[in-house]
Amino acid sequence: MTQKKTDHLNLLFDMGELASIITGGSDIQAFLTGASALVAKHLQAHVCSIYLFDYRSKHLVLKATRGLKPEAVNQIRMLPGEGLVGQCFSRDQVLRVGNARISPGFKYFDNAGEDPFNSFLCVPIRRGVVKIGVLVVQQREIDHFTLLDERALRTAATQLAGAVENARLLMALATEQTDTDENEETASNMFPAFIKGKADGYGLAYGTIRPSRRKRKAILFEADASNISYSLADFQTALENTIEELKLLQDKFASSLPESESLIFTAHFMMLKDKNFTGKMKRLIEQGTSPVAAIQQLVQKYIKVFSDNPNAYMQEKAVDVEDLGIRLLSHLKALNTPSPPDRGTIFVTQDIYPSDMMKLTADGIRGIVLVGGGVTSHVTILARSLSIPLIIADDPVFIDLPDTTRLLLDAGQGNIYINPDDNTLAIFKANREAENRAKAQDMQPSTYTLDNRRIRLLANINLLSEIHLARELKAEGIGLYRTEFPFLIRSGFPSEDEQYIIYKGLFDKTAHGTVTTVRTLDAGGDKVIKHTDFIQEANPALGLRSIRFSLKHRQIFRTQIKAILRAAHGRQKVRLMFPLISSIDEFLEAKQVTAQCIRQMEQEGVPHKNDPEVGIMIELPSVLATIDEFAQLADFFAIGTNDFIQYMLGADRGNKLVAEHYIPYHPAVNRGIAKIAAAAIGHGIDVSVCGEMAHDPKHIPFLIGLGITTLSVDPKFLPRVQATVMGTRFSRASAYAQRLLDQTRVRYAAEMLNAGPGKNRIIE
Ligand code: PEP
Ligand code: MG
Repeated sequence: MTQKKTDHLNLLFDMGELASIITGGSDIQAFLTGASALVAKHLQAHVCSIYLFDYRSKHLVLKATRGLKPEAVNQIRMLPGEGLVGQCFSRDQVLRVGNARISPGFKYFDNAGEDPFNSFLCVPIRRGVVKIGVLVVQQREIDHFTLLDERALRTAATQLAGAVENARLLMALATEQTDTDENEETASNMFPAFIKGKADGYGLAYGTIRPSRRKRKAILFEADASNISYSLADFQTALENTIEELKLLQDKFASSLPESESLIFTAHFMMLKDKNFTGKMKRLIEQGTSPVAAIQQLVQKYIKVFSDNPNAYMQEKAVDVEDLGIRLLSHLKALNTPSPPDRGTIFVTQDIYPSDMMKLTADGIRGIVLVGGGVTSHVTILARSLSIPLIIADDPVFIDLPDTTRLLLDAGQGNIYINPDDNTLAIFKANREAENRAKAQDMQPSTYTLDNRRIRLLANINLLSEIHLARELKAEGIGLYRTEFPFLIRSGFPSEDEQYIIYKGLFDKTAHGTVTTVRTLDAGGDKVIKHTDFIQEANPALGLRSIRFSLKHRQIFRTQIKAILRAAHGRQKVRLMFPLISSIDEFLEAKQVTAQCIRQMEQEGVPHKNDPEVGIMIELPSVLATIDEFAQLADFFAIGTNDFIQYMLGADRGNKLVAEHYIPYHPAVNRGIAKIAAAAIGHGIDVSVCGEMAHDPKHIPFLIGLGITTLSVDPKFLPRVQATVMGTRFSRASAYAQRLLDQTRVRYAAEMLNAGPGKNRIIE
């Protein structure tokens, strides 16, 4: 047996050793080989190997080894989760195995020369929080490695991580350079055919990639290499064509989305008329500057002015200038180019604003891939409302995809197919047609459980255009109308009359005699409404959001309440709902403002609804303590599980880094919801669930089992929810809910939820 040194706890390669393998080797490969030799030496191990994660192929690839056969380098590859190395990587855990060859996870490669080595120890190599590979040592003797070795190997991995990551990036860059030398078709074949993203939406989209903002922006900064000389008349034509294009987009959009008014391109139109902008361009051209250079000069200047402004609202304007500049230059160049610039229909981006989404929709975008970055929940909700499939994918491969790439998005599953073949496309087309056919005709006007308990299905509406689908799919009313979208998509606050028109549209479009629940403005948090005195908060989710914003900005609140109640004049079953209520005092204050608005309208003789039901969204755990008192004061409760989970568990609903902590079936959440339901039922008021949980077939039996009889969901989910309810037996669901409530452990609650009401058992 090899004699072990006890001092290798202090295994720190000294700087000289590390520097010598970095600078001494002939290339990157030599560095990695040197590194594995160094680790083998310090741990006195027979084998040391370095596996790096290849982001393109999604495999862990053996990149260097001391002790295994050199020809195995670049040949041995495995998926995360596969073999001991793959498990170490995917679980982000050290694995120490006394006899690897009989370990169930071991994967044998006969070309590696691993046969004589029994003991196995591996650690993930991480750069900060990013996993980049796995460092492995192996030894002939069984049960060789100790806890000390484990610590030493971890130290080695930490020390090497920076250099290894640089090596990995350089190797990736080298491959990319080779790629760009080849033709585009070959290059696109280098990318994986399929990528799994986060399922956050609904629907399918297929199209070519729209060049990213970065690529499109290049036109604004590159010198014109075409040698075409454009005239002032050409510039005028390009200007007119741009105006014409924007008008067409606007008209198309305004008719399908009335709440947008015609305002989405306001900034564009204003700039097109601005004598300091297009006027200055003209003057420059008259003085001899080429039209391309004149446009570039002014656009660059304006981008700088807006980007340098400390106000986020003004910074966002830079995007409008950019977009306008690209349109102007594209129209100018189109005068000499036979085909217009390809705009593509699948937008791949790292960030997006709700206002961008509206413009992209007007531009005919069919789908969106959001690569990493933050995304506000309202962007995902808006995408759903606009029927734009959106997938969040955290894969750097998207940044490099050529513009000719075709993508097929299956947002329901979170699947992205890169350059799908005809067969895949045909399967999806057939599925989509079958799905569309099935929906409306199968819906029943009312919904019952198997044992005849009536469950009311309502719709969550964000844009008026969705009401049509809600009615077609037999929603029995509106359980949540999110009023913030008209605020989110325009640059200023809509006036009382503008809001009145929108809310009137809501009441006119919904069937008479059905309930309509209008939620007052849920601004702030991740629903960022840009206005001139917009303040950036360090902690927006805990900041001036929702009802707090409304109560602070009383004028905005009063304007909205009056607009809603004026629009609701003559309607039955009107519900006014306040979001994010944290205390009885806050609720009473909001009710008082409502009463004042009603009084004022009475005095002024303005026709309005004077007796709406007034209720609250339950989204904060603080209300649980006084839930019975709330039930005595409110006409109804609507449980907003999206926020309720976020605040109950302290996990941001939009932050993928804490997604694993955002646990809808957490015992605290389950018991919280049960308490709310019991209070409402005990006091005889209606309680609905309108968060995402309400459309999840796994959660529906639990909610029904608690006695909840109203679910409000995005219209698209109505068929699925109805089918789930109709397959549920209330008696069984209530026993199941009780058993789920007994669980104190997250993992047991998860098991029980996955098993469903049919097969569950009490878990100790
Ligand atoms: C919720 O929080 O569950 C909810 C329905 O409101 P929103 O998603 O608009 O915050
Ligand atoms: Mg909410």
